Amino acid sequence: MATDTQALKNARIAVLGYGSQGRAHALNLRDSGLDVVVGLRKGGPTSFKAQEDGLRVLEPAEAVKGADLVAVLTPDMVQPKLYTDVIAPNLRPHAALLFAHGFNIHFKTIASRADIDVILVAPKGPGALVRKEYEIGRGVPCLYAVHQDASGHALARALAYAAGIGGARAMLIETDFKEETETDLFGEQAVLCGGVSELVRHGFETLVEAGYKPEIAYYEVMHELKLIVDLFYEGGLTKMLTFVSETAQYGDYTRGPRVVDAATKQRMRAVLDEIQDGRFAREWTAEYAAGLPNYKAYKQKDLDHPIEKVGAALRARMPWLTPAPASAPPALKKAG
Ligand code: NAD
Ligand code: MG
Repeated sequence: MATDTQALKNARIAVLGYGSQGRAHALNLRDSGLDVVVGLRKGGPTSFKAQEDGLRVLEPAEAVKGADLVAVLTPDMVQPKLYTDVIAPNLRPHAALLFAHGFNIHFKTIASRADIDVILVAPKGPGALVRKEYEIGRGVPCLYAVHQDASGHALARALAYAAGIGGARAMLIETDFKEETETDLFGEQAVLCGGVSELVRHGFETLVEAGYKPEIAYYEVMHELKLIVDLFYEGGLTKMLTFVSETAQYGDYTRGPRVVDAATKQRMRAVLDEIQDGRFAREWTAEYAAGLPNYKAYKQKDLDHPIEKVGAALRARMPWLTPAPASAPPALKKAG
């Protein structure tokens, strides 16, 4: 398996979108010696940022016209229209269309032209980490896949792109669009975003309703989570269990399964079923098309939760926790 950028050495890469993933990919590919342009709408929220980072910025259609590989790194919900309006009419035959998440190909909201490669390189981490790891000579593990190979070089291009963003320095794992899409959605819904935030919220509410100080509840169930997750990241359950006390371990073994139990797992299975049969994708696509009425209300409810009030006050007294953001957060974030 090639782990270098050779297959893209003479290629022009157009990165569409300059948010979390777009910025990290464009800068890493450039620093790997590849020819990168960024396709952004003039006056758009991030085109100034890309220019400031020293990248060449073109209108999206112009960027696509000259490219051998187009990386689609706009939000998932804007990709179908971007494909129809800008990419499909301008992409060269045998060029490659690359995604960092398989949503639109897997759920068929983009029907790609038959004469192009369709490939996936999905870093298993947020863009800021993809950039930070690259800068210190490491990388973030990536999944890669080929959906369509019109050029005969689709796999080589995917691997070269993964090498260019630093993924090959860490680990590359082969997958397909179905597996990447379904596991990614499940991870963020059941565990990473949905599961963890509900666990934290309920833990905080339980302590505060029982009369404990919100500040102490915040440290217990939100702040200290990082210490545990860092141990998971470095050495799994084994390392976590070596670093916590025997008392904490006994509480973990006997109380943990009472909080998250077989019924939770059944509901996780139901969440996975809705991903697999397309119900989630249809619901989210309709919500987006309707102007995000429920999304906005859900988000406001999270922002208004007491844990956010006490958290903001405490974090303001711990300025070392929040480094200056690399770029202003876009209006609509996809996590995970
Ligand atoms: P983002 O929201 O951070 O950034 C989106 C960018 O697209 C912004 O620069 C925005 O200005 C631009 N944009 C929006 N509409 C546009 C349009 N019509 N034309 C051109 N540009 C437009 O997005 P993101 O989180 O980096 O997600 C990009 C892709 O990466 C998605 O497919 C996502 O699923 C995937 N992904 C994200 C993460 C993550 O951690 N954020 C991880 C893995 C994969
Ligand atoms: Mg994800």
